[in-house]
Amino acid sequence: MNNSAFRALSYGVYVLSTWDNGRPTGCTVNSVVQITSSPATVAVSVNKNNYTHECIERSGNFAISVLHEQSDPSIIGTFGFSSGRDTDKFDKVDYSVKGMLPVVNNAAAYIVCEVEKTLETDTHTVFLGKVTDADVLENKPPMTYSYYHNVIKGKTAKNAPTYIEEKAEKGKWVCSICGYVYDGETPFEDLPDDFRCPVCKQPKSAFVKK
Ligand code: FE
Repeated sequence: MNNSAFRALSYGVYVLSTWDNGRPTGCTVNSVVQITSSPATVAVSVNKNNYTHECIERSGNFAISVLHEQSDPSIIGTFGFSSGRDTDKFDKVDYSVKGMLPVVNNAAAYIVCEVEKTLETDTHTVFLGKVTDADVLENKPPMTYSYYHNVIKGKTAKNAPTYIEEKAEKGKWVCSICGYVYDGETPFEDLPDDFRCPVCKQPKSAFVKK
C-alpha cells in the first residue's frame, strides 16, 4: 500500500474545541466533513488519546474554528502539539464564545455542534454533530492541509488520522515539539537567541540536529 495516495485527499486545518468543566480546551484536527445540509450536520474524527476527545464525550458538544491562510501558525502549534490535560491552550489565543462554545477569533469561520452519533474505530471516534450555530469570521481563504504542509512547512501531529511518519534529512535542525524543519538561509547556529519555532513558538533550545 502506498500511503502517499492519502496525500491526494483534501483536508483543512481546524481547531476543535469544547468546555472542560467550564474551562475552554481544544485540539487541532484536519478531518472535518459536512455530511448533510438540511438539517446541517458535520463529522469530525478525533484520536481517543486526545484530551479533547474525553471532554467532548462529557460535554456532548463541540465547535470547529476553520483556520485560514493568514491565521497565526502558533495557533496550530498551541492546539496541535501540547495537551489540554496540563495546558490552558486558550490562555494564549484570542477567542470568543459563540453558540455557547469557545471559538478562535483568528479564523475564517466557526461551526458549533451538538453530538448526535458516534462511530468508533480502534484509534479514533467520529463524532457526528448537528449544527446549532455557524458564521463567517474573517473573509480569507481557508487553510488547506496542503498549504500548511507546503507553505507553512508544518508537520502532522502523531494523533491525526492523516499522520505518516517522516524522517528529516540528516544535518537539518528539527523542532522537537512540532517537527518543523528549519531550512532558512542563515545557518541554524547563527540564528539569534530569541529565535522561536514559527509553528509552535518554542525556543531555539527545543531544536535538535538530525
Ligand atoms: Fe515547533
